[in-house]
Amino acid sequence: MTGQDTYRHKGLRRRLIDELRELNIADARTLEAMLEVPRHLFFPDQAFVEKAYEDIAFKIGAGQTISHPSTVAFQSALISPKRGEKILEIGTGSGYQTAVLVQLGARVFSIERQHELHVRTKKLLDQMGISARLSFGDGYLGLPGFAPFDKILVTAGAPFIPQPLIDQLKPGGRLVIPVGKDGTQEMVVVDKAEDGSLSQSVHGEFRFVPLLEDRN
Ligand code: SAH
Repeated sequence: MTGQDTYRHKGLRRRLIDELRELNIADARTLEAMLEVPRHLFFPDQAFVEKAYEDIAFKIGAGQTISHPSTVAFQSALISPKRGEKILEIGTGSGYQTAVLVQLGARVFSIERQHELHVRTKKLLDQMGISARLSFGDGYLGLPGFAPFDKILVTAGAPFIPQPLIDQLKPGGRLVIPVGKDGTQEMVVVDKAEDGSLSQSVHGEFRFVPLLEDRN
């Protein structure tokens, strides 16, 4: 059984979305989608429900965190999925960002390398009736069996841009990836033109948990 989404939760969520609107970091469509997704249900411990509607990251087990709502808003707006687009997410984590992309009408594929989180989140999304294809594996490799993708979103800090992710982008596609070492990253957007040429832009500094290269 999943938890409930009560009037109280909805009220707290509306207040959070109002705060995010003030920050001017995401378009109205992204914020409307986030208003529909009950973030508190993606917390492993329902005792911390109050924290779900503050703009903070939070521990979800296996040394990982659910990203700040403002970060999810910002990355979702950069990805801006059109209905039916195929999107690859690297770092399933709690499944919250996955759910927001699904709410925006995307067909989402997501990879997680922590087995515990993969299993837990797969079960949760099934219970919530959220349809996404979750894989257990290494995000550095992308998902060659399902490529190419319209867009790819990396939700952990990468020390460099993995070439397989560029290769698995469709012409006209976009990769959003926080790149940096030492705990802070720049939000990098790589656009692949129809002729396959690449262009990059940078969109501010963030702090993500690292995109890990080894097993644990
Ligand atoms: N999108 C998530 C954010 C989770 S934090 C959410 O909304 O909750 C980033 C996640 O990336 C963590 O769960 C971490 O285990 C995962 N991760 C780290 N390195 C990875 C890799 N190489 N491949 C896939 N996932 C990875």
